[in-house]
Amino acid sequence: MAAFGTVFMPEMALATFENDQWSETEIVKSDRLQFHPGAHVLHYSSTCFEGLKAFRHADGGVYIFRMDANVKRLAQSTHLLSLPAFDADQLSKMIVDIVGRFSTEVPEPPGSMYIRPTHIGTEASIGKAAAPSSSSLLYVLLSPVGDYFAGGAKPLRLLLEENGMRCAPHMGMVKSGGNYASALGPIADARSKADADQVLFCPNGDVQETGAANFILIDGNEVITKGLDSSFLHGITRDSVLTIARDLGMTVSERDLSVTELLERAGKPGTEAALSGTAAVLTPVGTLIHNGKEYPVGSGEAGKTTLKLRQLLNDIQWGKAEDKHGWLTKV
Ligand SMILES: *Cc1c(COP(=O)(O)O)cnc(C)c1O
Repeated sequence: MAAFGTVFMPEMALATFENDQWSETEIVKSDRLQFHPGAHVLHYSSTCFEGLKAFRHADGGVYIFRMDANVKRLAQSTHLLSLPAFDADQLSKMIVDIVGRFSTEVPEPPGSMYIRPTHIGTEASIGKAAAPSSSSLLYVLLSPVGDYFAGGAKPLRLLLEENGMRCAPHMGMVKSGGNYASALGPIADARSKADADQVLFCPNGDVQETGAANFILIDGNEVITKGLDSSFLHGITRDSVLTIARDLGMTVSERDLSVTELLERAGKPGTEAALSGTAAVLTPVGTLIHNGKEYPVGSGEAGKTTLKLRQLLNDIQWGKAEDKHGWLTKV
């Protein structure tokens, strides 16, 4: 199967902001964009994006999961990057329209159509290192994806990094390209030196998240994860999983978690850890690596509560369980 995110639908929805106004949405070919080599995004990283999914249900209908939350987060990223504000209704319609156009291409579960709204600053001005782009492009790309859990259920190995950070602390809640570029070095080091799958960034001992997913710890009936602040990305999967956990009567503790507490709890039998994100849903973490030492989480195998929460979330996405929180938008 092709690697995640490498297959695209041939068309995308696009709108441009120029001369202080947004254009109508156009449907254009998705294999190229035209803008000046001096475009703001290429020099000063005025770029943000979203990742959400559409699912095919047994009745043949196609449903987008938590679109409103993703549109809201892109609006927030846009604001924090000083990009031109867009109309949430226009973007929602762009998403629904382009998914509708390719609805027959939405894979059956466990596959889905991954949706990638993107907003970039296009003003041709290399003099604007310290000023926002006055023009921008907003587009919605589609990429059908398979099941990246099948056979991939092998629990992850995470390197705990207490010295570096994923991105600048005030940028954590912005889903912006520069943050991923800044995490590449530490992740490459962790892979080559510790055979880790991901880095869990824990600046000064504060357990935050990995390069592109949130971290949750499950200890018996309690789910522990860092409370929302500006230092990390406010995942919508995180929010969905916590909501489902509360529905199950679990205790959800959104609070700071130190590396010391994490390693202590990880050593207890029955403790579980997982990464949450749209692409991977909820992926078990089996091993934590800290200062050259390896700490299995619980048994080191995929946790049963992790798999249960994952299944309950999939059931809602796939139309097999009631959508009682109104998370699905029919295309
Ligand atoms: C996208 C992302 C997540 C997960 O967010 P979801 O809304 O659950 O997909 C977590 N951390 C980072 C850094 C991300 O970019």
